[in-house]
Amino acid sequence: MTYKIFKFGGASVKDAEAVKNVAHIIREFGSQNNLLVVVSAMGKTTNALERLLNDFFEQKDWQIEYETLKKYHLEIVERLFSKDHLIYTALDYLFLQLKDTLLNKIKPNQYDESYDQIVSFGEVVSSQILSYYLKEQKIDNEWIEAKDYIKTDTTWREGKVDLPWTENLVKRELKPILQDKLIVTQGFLGGTLGHKVTTLGREGSDYSASIFAYCLDAESVTIWKDVPGILNADPKKIPDTQLYTTLSYTEAAEMTFYGANVIHPKTIKPLANKNIPLYVRSFVEPSKSGTCIDGEASQRQTPTIIFKPNQVLLTFSVKDLAFITEENLSKILHTFTQLNCKINLMQSSAVSFSICTDYQTHRIEKVCEFLEEEFAIKQEKSVQLLTVLYYDEQNLQKLISNYQKVLEQKTPQYYRVVVSE
Ligand code: ASP
Ligand code: MG
Repeated sequence: MTYKIFKFGGASVKDAEAVKNVAHIIREFGSQNNLLVVVSAMGKTTNALERLLNDFFEQKDWQIEYETLKKYHLEIVERLFSKDHLIYTALDYLFLQLKDTLLNKIKPNQYDESYDQIVSFGEVVSSQILSYYLKEQKIDNEWIEAKDYIKTDTTWREGKVDLPWTENLVKRELKPILQDKLIVTQGFLGGTLGHKVTTLGREGSDYSASIFAYCLDAESVTIWKDVPGILNADPKKIPDTQLYTTLSYTEAAEMTFYGANVIHPKTIKPLANKNIPLYVRSFVEPSKSGTCIDGEASQRQTPTIIFKPNQVLLTFSVKDLAFITEENLSKILHTFTQLNCKINLMQSSAVSFSICTDYQTHRIEKVCEFLEEEFAIKQEKSVQLLTVLYYDEQNLQKLISNYQKVLEQKTPQYYRVVVSE
């Protein structure tokens, strides 16, 4: 038996027309069975749920966000179903549950755990709506809760998946269902041993799709997006982007590492381990083939341009004019590991060591607190990190002439520069 996974992100279900298009894609390009559909929260729902939770924690009026969210989903439902449909009761019930969780079930001093209990709601509601709508369109399907299959530890907001356990459950319980219908489930969500819901990190639905594919030994995964596939740069920043028709797993993983937000960074590994191809295709032009990522080496010619915004450049120097030693370096690196700070670029010189990292105020303050006794620390804020892979000299110069450079790195394969924002 061969299985396929389709993943639909928030933009692909952002309104009623979009949901109709998803049903169309499933009918045209999917099948009536052996297909598992992973769906994200509708539009910008995850951001709205984050605001709702924050309002609640800060004792502000959370009702406004709550009502807006309810209205948004209700409007979509009204455009998809007739007035007497069962979905209205389901929707009411879900929103009551959300309110009940907020008021009675979350722990006031445990933000991260509460986050998962509230923010997970977006995927639950979108997958319910999609499942009902597909049934309405005579596409038989079963709605399942991802938290019962994707098993994680209790690292709230970034659940670590227990793959062997997950694989066992998915194989045993989902394969029989897939024999005669398709499955609709949530991206982004997992569940603990104690049946509490966890989330897998923002934009984690791609990763969910990849986990299901791994566990089912699927034939392929298709991520349906609002872009034609994987482009060599963000079209919002660079004119004349080009589409990669093929990429290797390594190339795709490398792009996510440098900050391309085309697919979630964790998506590639499970697929590469089982040699499952990943297709990135457009839900706007579904008949086009998009990008195929697999184990084949591709002959990439077009340079990849990646901007990673919102960075800070920290420069550490030893106070008494001494040189930077291995001991100093390991102290700095150890602090970064300890505080879970990701290093996006580093460079050392005789007297200083620089690290470019995501600008998260809290974390940066902590880093400085830990290290300021031993080092003089300079912070360069409002910078971004630009990476160009497989550059050609002429175009590179044209591209960077617009920016003010703070720190530069170059090898024959890549060029990286920290520039002012
Ligand atoms: N809805 C979640 C988010 O916006 C997960 C996802 O879209 O992949 O982060
Ligand atoms: Mg999303």
